[in-house]
Amino acid sequence: MKKQELEQLLSEKARLIEELESELEATNQGIILLTMELEELEHEKLREHIDVIKQLQIELADTNKGLLALAVELEQSEEKYSSILKHAAETVFTFTQEGIIETTNPAASRLFGYDESELLGKNIDVLIPKFNQIAPPVDFEEKVSQLNGEPVIYGFKKDGTAFPIEFTLGRPVYRNQRQWLVIIRDITERKKAEEGLRLMAKIFEGSKDAIVITNTRSRIIDANEAFTTLTGYEKSEVLHQHPAILNSHRHGDNFYYVLRRELLKTGAWSGEVWTRRKNNEIYPIWLSIYSVKDENNVTTHFVGIFSDITARKASENQLKQLAHYDALTGLANRTQFIERLKWTIELAKRNKEQAALMFLDLDRFKLVNDTLGHQAGDELLVEVAQRLKQCVREVDMVSRLAGDEFTIILSSIQTPDDASVVAKKIIQALALPVQLEGRDVFISTSMGITVFPMDGITVNHLIKNADTAMYHAKERGRNNYQYFANTMNQKVLDELEMETNLRQALQHEEFSLCYQPQFNLKTKEMIGVEVLLRWKHPVLGAISPAVFIPHAEKSDLIIAIGEWVLRTACTRSMAWQAQGLKPLRISVNLSGMQLKQNDLIDKITFILSETRLPAEFLELELTEGVLMDNVDTTISTLRELKEMGIRLSIDDFGTGYSSLSYLKRFPIDTLKIDQSFIREITTDSDDNAIASTIIAMAHNLRLKVIAEGVETLEQAAILEEKKCDEVQGYLFGRPLVEHDLCKLLTELKPQNL
Ligand code: C2E
Ligand code: CA
Ligand code: CA
Repeated sequence: MKKQELEQLLSEKARLIEELESELEATNQGIILLTMELEELEHEKLREHIDVIKQLQIELADTNKGLLALAVELEQSEEKYSSILKHAAETVFTFTQEGIIETTNPAASRLFGYDESELLGKNIDVLIPKFNQIAPPVDFEEKVSQLNGEPVIYGFKKDGTAFPIEFTLGRPVYRNQRQWLVIIRDITERKKAEEGLRLMAKIFEGSKDAIVITNTRSRIIDANEAFTTLTGYEKSEVLHQHPAILNSHRHGDNFYYVLRRELLKTGAWSGEVWTRRKNNEIYPIWLSIYSVKDENNVTTHFVGIFSDITARKASENQLKQLAHYDALTGLANRTQFIERLKWTIELAKRNKEQAALMFLDLDRFKLVNDTLGHQAGDELLVEVAQRLKQCVREVDMVSRLAGDEFTIILSSIQTPDDASVVAKKIIQALALPVQLEGRDVFISTSMGITVFPMDGITVNHLIKNADTAMYHAKERGRNNYQYFANTMNQKVLDELEMETNLRQALQHEEFSLCYQPQFNLKTKEMIGVEVLLRWKHPVLGAISPAVFIPHAEKSDLIIAIGEWVLRTACTRSMAWQAQGLKPLRISVNLSGMQLKQNDLIDKITFILSETRLPAEFLELELTEGVLMDNVDTTISTLRELKEMGIRLSIDDFGTGYSSLSYLKRFPIDTLKIDQSFIREITTDSDDNAIASTIIAMAHNLRLKVIAEGVETLEQAAILEEKKCDEVQGYLFGRPLVEHDLCKLLTELKPQNL
């Protein structure tokens, strides 16, 4: 069996193997088939894919082209916008939802004070804190309206300063993203202007002062409430009217002319004006007018602002009265006196004039007070004040300083002597008794006089001088006047460096000549003129020759000055003769210094031949003192002059110490009696006698006599009675400038007689 079984088994096995083998074959074939099938399938799919891809590739290429074009366009427009941003005057920012700044422009840097690099990436809230409300993703419209509802929104500069802004907010889409964009304007100026306007309107309406506005055609275009209150006119009543409806007619045309001129010239005018209310009441206002100009400086309007000053004026007047006047006498008080003195000095300086200050102190006033009582003393002071005022001109000022002390300021006087005229008047005015307590009381005063600029040029200086001179007058026995002593003058003038000034005067032609007529007393014929030197200092004004000649003599300058005087006088005199005017003798003052010059004769000869003036028309005036100095030389010089045909005269005769007999030795023609004798000839018997003697003795010596300083008819009458030959003085004629002298000479021409 085993074998069989085995064989069976074996055959079974073999069959099975066979079976398996065939099956494998079949599978393999299947696989091959399958593989083939599979291959076929894959091929087709791939082809399909490739087609798709190809298609896609074509499409892609197209898209790329389009994209490229787009990119170029985009780049160009970005450039355009960034250039606009760069040049925009307004500040522009874009920022993200979170507030981070992404774009900015130079205007932003300028406005906020940061560099561009500092701004980029910064939160917009730092610049405009109000914007922090924007950041949360809230409704845009709502946010904008919220912000617009804010009264003022402020921006903050880098340095911390805040400024008002105005802005426009937007949400543009950029690169597919929504952004914030803000355009900002600084409105500081506009706010200021608005503020100003609001303020103006408030001031205009709220002002207590009346305000009225006119156009350039002088028509009222607006007025405020105070205007109505003050004038009584409603605004509607004055609109389009001329402001002249307010005129009081208290001011002349010139007032308005001056006002207009000043307004046009300076753009403003202010001052007191009398105006009229609607009810015709006239009242004073303080008016200020301004012109309003546009940016081209063209006047567009005038604004008048005024207030009623009735009350102020009333109290002002009262105060002024109190502050400036002496309650008892009504004269100016010390305050006003000082003010006036300052003013007078200024004026005299400007007009180059002289002025005098007088100090008066009543003599023995205390006695009146003690014996008759204060009441009587007061009455006396009032009376004296009254009389003093009558002795001066309207322009002069009398004031009472204290007690029985008075002062007088004489402005613009011709010569220092003018003050003595006033002083004499005062002596006369006070000579009449005053009725006090039923009896006649006699009062007199001692006066001190000082002259500007000769004695001093400051207030203090003049006051001190006048006071000193007044005490001098007291010492001299009261009831008289004294000029401030010359020694003091000397000092003042030294201060002024006289010599330098004089030298300049000659160079700068500050000298001129005056001519004082001389008359034959009997025939009243004008026979000559005395040549008098004048000096107008550029600052100090007129300075008297009595002051500066002594200085010129000290410094030798008198030689040059004297020569100038002589040449000018001779030249002018010939000129008058050439004009056909009456030939005149000219008397020229000769200083002692000139007489001592060795070449005096040569100089005079030369001047005469140069000017062609015949010697007989020239007279030289010498003073006594000069003659007595070095008598022999003088005599020989005078002889030579005499031989040339020149006339010689002795000036200020009587003041020196020469004996008359001595005079015989000098070849002179005329004696000039000094002013001091003439002044008192009517009142002083000594002076009268001296004048008589001089005249008589001069006639004995066959000399002519001329009296100088004749001021009154009485003096002239006495001189005529004493047979004085010639006269010179204010009574007959003051020193005249050339123009006036020629006029006088023209009137004297025979055909005009
Ligand atoms: P003087 O030679 O005695 O001259 C007369 C002075 O008396 C002049 O003053 C004249 O203006 C003034 N006078 C004339 N009439 C009257 C009058 O009726 N009343 C009063 N109170 N005065 C009268 P002035 O011009 O101030 O001259 C003063 C002095 O200066 C002269 O006195 C003379 O000594 C000197 N002087 C003037 N000119 C010259 C000049 O050219 N050369 C020189 N060396 N001295 C001159
Ligand atoms: Ca003289
Ligand atoms: Ca004289």
